[in-house]
Amino acid sequence: MFELSEEHREFRQSVRDFAEAEIAPHAAEWDRKHYFPVEVVQKMGRLGLFGLTAPEEYGGAGGDFTSLCVAIEEISRVDQSMGITLEAAVGLGINPILTYGTDEQKATWLPDLVAGEKLAGFGLTEPESGSDAGATKTRAVLDGGEWVIDGSKQFITNSGSSITSCVTVTARTGERPDGKPEISTIIVPAGTPGFVAEAAYDKLGWHASDTHPLSLSGVRVPESNLLGRRGKGFAQFLATLDDGRVAIAAVALGCIRACLELSVQYAGERQTFGGPIGRKQGVAFQIADLKVMADAAELLVYRAAALKDAGASVADFKQAASVAKLYATESAVTATRIATQVFGGYGFMEEYPVTRFYRDAKILEIGEGTSEVQRMLIARSLGLPVE
Ligand SMILES: Cc1cc2nc3c(=O)[nH]c(=O)nc-3n(C[C@H](O)[C@H](O)[C@H](O)COP(=O)(O)OP(=O)(O)OC[C@H]3O[C@@H](n4cnc5c(N)ncnc54)[C@H](O)[C@@H]3O)c2cc1C
Repeated sequence: MFELSEEHREFRQSVRDFAEAEIAPHAAEWDRKHYFPVEVVQKMGRLGLFGLTAPEEYGGAGGDFTSLCVAIEEISRVDQSMGITLEAAVGLGINPILTYGTDEQKATWLPDLVAGEKLAGFGLTEPESGSDAGATKTRAVLDGGEWVIDGSKQFITNSGSSITSCVTVTARTGERPDGKPEISTIIVPAGTPGFVAEAAYDKLGWHASDTHPLSLSGVRVPESNLLGRRGKGFAQFLATLDDGRVAIAAVALGCIRACLELSVQYAGERQTFGGPIGRKQGVAFQIADLKVMADAAELLVYRAAALKDAGASVADFKQAASVAKLYATESAVTATRIATQVFGGYGFMEEYPVTRFYRDAKILEIGEGTSEVQRMLIARSLGLPVE
């Protein structure tokens, strides 16, 4: 039987207490005002959430990936904007530097990121390359010991907040012998001349998360800001996204669980035709389906996390990550639709959290690889010659 350890369960409770006290009461207002609550992000940092998987030498807890998924799930249960802030900060901000950085890069960037005092973004997507991320047009050329970067990035999380310290960007740095672009990743410190985080997007959901288009025009950074090996950028971001997929599936799991809990409560209280709506099979059966989704998503998310923690083969982990991402995120969209239905007209009113969850959930099927991309990866992992 699958069960999280007692340690993980205790940790879950401590994150839940924090989320209920510090995030839940304010989430609707942040959403309405499109406000990114830096002070709460830093409180999450003081709780140690950004450093769960980072080594102690950088101020982290040296813990496992499962703990990070637990934290992301619990924060997302009350607010997906803060859930994705944590997910992206660790998965896309800290992890690439931790995994591929030199000792000097790690010493420069990680302590503040791990403490949650600062945030880093990961700039892969561009206006004309998302799923087809290898089609990146941003270029970087070496000139006098510096990279000169020109291009633009699109939809980059945590990239323009007042505490963003850097963004790791992918760029073409040449051509490979087979004629394909050589792609590398380069750390660009916030505030570098020519590097601009444009105005935040007006999004359907995740209003309290920080997302910007980035423009890079003649941006000069030292050659030593290259992250990992030159020409390995493509492989590096693919590996980065594997972890991210499980983590974003944990956001989806938190969302499904919230839909389940809110629906059970509401169906017990709301009266129609002389009794609670939960007495009607038409309502109760939909809520039963939410329970199935929550349990199945939980099993898939924590199976993938356990595979990572156990050092499973890359192929096994990749497949499990895509399966978890696909199922949990598509279920979250369905779960929010069911929950708003259970709430009837009130489910369409912003005073109830299910309405916000409904708007927030859709992006889960798109970010960190769309559902179609996950199906493509799963099909390929089965040996199918899908394009
Ligand atoms: C709020 C938000 C935050 C984000 N944060 C980040 C971030 O921090 N860093 C970052 O780099 N990116 C980020 N992204 C970008 C996100 O990862 C991309 O939007 C996503 O990968 C899809 O790329 P696209 O938007 O270019 O869509 P496209 O790639 O243009 O896809 C359009 C449609 O075509 C489908 N499609 C494309 N190719 C295929 C194919 N081969 N087979 C079948 N269907 C296909 C897609 O599934 C989709 O339905 C974020 C996006 C959003 C909205």
